[in-house]
Amino acid sequence: MTVADSRPTRPARAGSPRRAKGEGQWALGYREPLNPNEQAKKDDDALHVRSRIENIYAVRGFASIDPSDLRNRFRWMGLYTQRRPGIDGGKTATLEPHELDDSHFMLRVRIDGGALTTEQLRVVGQISIDFARGTADVTDRQNVQLHWIRIEDVPEIWRRLESVGLSTMEACGDCPRVILGSPVAGIAADEIVDGTPAVREIAERYIGSEEFSNLPRKFKTAISGHPSQDTVPEINDVAFVGVEHPEHGPGFDLWVGGGLSTNPMLAQRLGAWVPLDEVADVWAGVVRVFRDYGYRRLRTKARIKFLVADWGPEKFRRVLETEYLHRPLVDGPAPATPVAPGDHVGVNRQQDGNYFVGFSAVAGRVSGEKLVRLAELAEAHGSSRVRTTPMQKLLVLDVAEDRVQPLIEAVRTELGLTADPTAWRRSVLACTGIEFCKLAIVETKGRAAALVDELEQRLGNLDSPITVNLNGCPNSCARIQVADIGLKGQLVPGPDGHQVEGFQVHLGGGLGLDAGFGRKLRGHKVVADDLPDYVERLAKAYLAERTDGERFAQW
Ligand code: SF4
Repeated sequence: MTVADSRPTRPARAGSPRRAKGEGQWALGYREPLNPNEQAKKDDDALHVRSRIENIYAVRGFASIDPSDLRNRFRWMGLYTQRRPGIDGGKTATLEPHELDDSHFMLRVRIDGGALTTEQLRVVGQISIDFARGTADVTDRQNVQLHWIRIEDVPEIWRRLESVGLSTMEACGDCPRVILGSPVAGIAADEIVDGTPAVREIAERYIGSEEFSNLPRKFKTAISGHPSQDTVPEINDVAFVGVEHPEHGPGFDLWVGGGLSTNPMLAQRLGAWVPLDEVADVWAGVVRVFRDYGYRRLRTKARIKFLVADWGPEKFRRVLETEYLHRPLVDGPAPATPVAPGDHVGVNRQQDGNYFVGFSAVAGRVSGEKLVRLAELAEAHGSSRVRTTPMQKLLVLDVAEDRVQPLIEAVRTELGLTADPTAWRRSVLACTGIEFCKLAIVETKGRAAALVDELEQRLGNLDSPITVNLNGCPNSCARIQVADIGLKGQLVPGPDGHQVEGFQVHLGGGLGLDAGFGRKLRGHKVVADDLPDYVERLAKAYLAERTDGERFAQW
């Protein structure tokens, strides 16, 4: 029996009468699972799968894995089966899940706040070399993703990760995923408030706890006290956004209900100011509202954004305060709109007079060898800390002024990562795509790298960045709706009329200063091979027609 099962059924409370009936909301008394995912979570707490992996599946091999664990509970330990090589995108929707499965796994290493020591980075890199055929991608949620993992190797991988304080716990699944944190928390000279203690407290108190191991769906958190709002707060389930309160000082503005995918919504402000030492409690209150009132009937309606959209921010805040926190929150001001991008690429001065250096890897693709070597180079230049960013970048912290240029030169020549990239190299994001993802229809990472090379050759640099995000399917792991040019992978008619890999285009989305969703342009479907020509045409038109200072999103 799960902890959730042992809680008494509550009488009907704050749910909206219009939607309440039959949405599977626990707080309204609906406790019978209404779909197979809910049934699997009720049958056995997903966190219990760890002992079966260690004691049974890793010993007996892939064929011994119970399908219900493979398709559901493995995710709570950061494990997904990867796509069987050689199956083209046209088959994605027509095959059963098991027909798409390879017997290898993607493993997501959880890096809360993106904060790593060089020792941790070296361990992750060595795991990649030893067990993942050298693969390693920095994701846009600050994780590192490895591929080609065998179930037999998972216990040893966990042992190595946990020996340096890392884990894969709840890296996927219907639970609190990795906590995005400002990559420059505690070091940036212009920081409003350092959210690091809150990130740590939430991770220590709640990650791996059965209290939150059965949520309606995934739950994404962002905490940043940096004025650039560098954790994409608009599109997280809950976000704490640094703000200076006129009476109480630095703290966080509370936002809820953001998310992309097929029904994109921007997070809404609750108008509440939260001091640093109350963030973990307020975060837990929001998660409890979601756990108890979230919709569990349809997976497509189970994210918190649908509840927030139905209730509105006033009712959400009222329920949070009265039923969960048992106290009112302090009213607070809205944070200022950020004026600078939050990817932290380049050389930046820290509070202590040292520097942090942000390096750009195209679409986050690195390798185990590169991670190990980056750790060595950072140490050789006096640093023992690195950070991953939600823009798929890597930062090296604490570099003395006279070591900055030697570090930049060494990383560029040895690893091909640059601290002074062109706007194209800096602004491309791509999801996993067909190389490994079972939902994918098209290839993404390799295409993103080729696109950057091509655009640099044709157009050189740009004085105003244009973000280009590539998704391998209609989901939005690479945030296509909030890119200047968002590319949604799908099959499109090729020159001879046959379906080929291509993209539906969304134009003019953005975050921060330009927060809003791009427009889906019905006529704009691009054959993948024509992508460089298409982006080049758009960029040239923008450069020719823009008015002074006009950004692409405004154009
Ligand atoms: Fe896979 Fe689609 Fe997400 Fe890309 S957007 S990683 S193809 S689910």
